[in-house]
Amino acid sequence: MSESQLRADIVEIGRRMYARGYTASNDGNISVRLGTDRLLMTPKSVCKGFMTPDMMCITDLDGRKLQGERDPSSEALMHLEVYRQRPDVQAVVHAHPPTATGFAVAGIPLDRAVLAEVLTTLGSIPIAEYATPSTKELPEAVRKYIKAHDGMLLANHGALTVGIDLYSAYYKMETIEHFAHISLVARMLGRENLISRDEVLRLQELRGTYGIKSPAPICADPEQEAADCQVVQAPESTGSRLVPDTDSPPSLAARVAASYGGTPAGASQEAGEIRLTYRELSQLIEDAVRTLRHG
Ligand SMILES: [Zn+2]
Repeated sequence: MSESQLRADIVEIGRRMYARGYTASNDGNISVRLGTDRLLMTPKSVCKGFMTPDMMCITDLDGRKLQGERDPSSEALMHLEVYRQRPDVQAVVHAHPPTATGFAVAGIPLDRAVLAEVLTTLGSIPIAEYATPSTKELPEAVRKYIKAHDGMLLANHGALTVGIDLYSAYYKMETIEHFAHISLVARMLGRENLISRDEVLRLQELRGTYGIKSPAPICADPEQEAADCQVVQAPESTGSRLVPDTDSPPSLAARVAASYGGTPAGASQEAGEIRLTYRELSQLIEDAVRTLRHG
């Protein structure tokens, strides 16, 4: 692909990331291999939503600037480390998509077997240890997972994805944010059904059938090291492919009821879930406010 096309693709992806709220202000960075020994990279301190093709920097594989009026991205070290560890990777995208970054802040990895398409593409999405942005701590934190994963969360920071070209790296960022959003909704609803271990193995085989390239196999054995394979949490099951997760956090309504001292009159309870009507919930909140004021 020509250099001018790659410049145009970086501009377009930056615009999409900014439009979707994956970055605010000057956050985020994007890079792509330019031949065998150079990188084309977004510059430091520009909003990714308003870039022009001439703004990009060209560096060597040690991060030395070869061309461009602006300096390379402040996270260049992280990008360089990815290219060093993964000769197959052609492009790297980093952003702070809010739902995925919320999981990264909460310290909750996206590693549950929940969506078949996420399992076949990314496998699992671990969290790289917290590191000070722009320092060489960040590439060190990323190094642990990058050999086996095409996407990861960065603790209290954001997310990182890689791919065989710019768009494949960017689409993985979309997948991570979309998956994080779905996981959040399911957890707010108070119930998550997980894909069984056998079904996860079947999905792993599908990767071969559909020619989905992945740096490591999916594995449902929690004892396995996440540096060697994509460890997902999938329950054992005899026969059924979806298994209700017994570790799901209780729903909001159940938590409200519990903090209020049990099931309110009129609320129905089945299978550990408490359902409240809107009126019951409003009543609970009003009562709680009244108690706080007068207590
Ligand atoms: Zn960042």
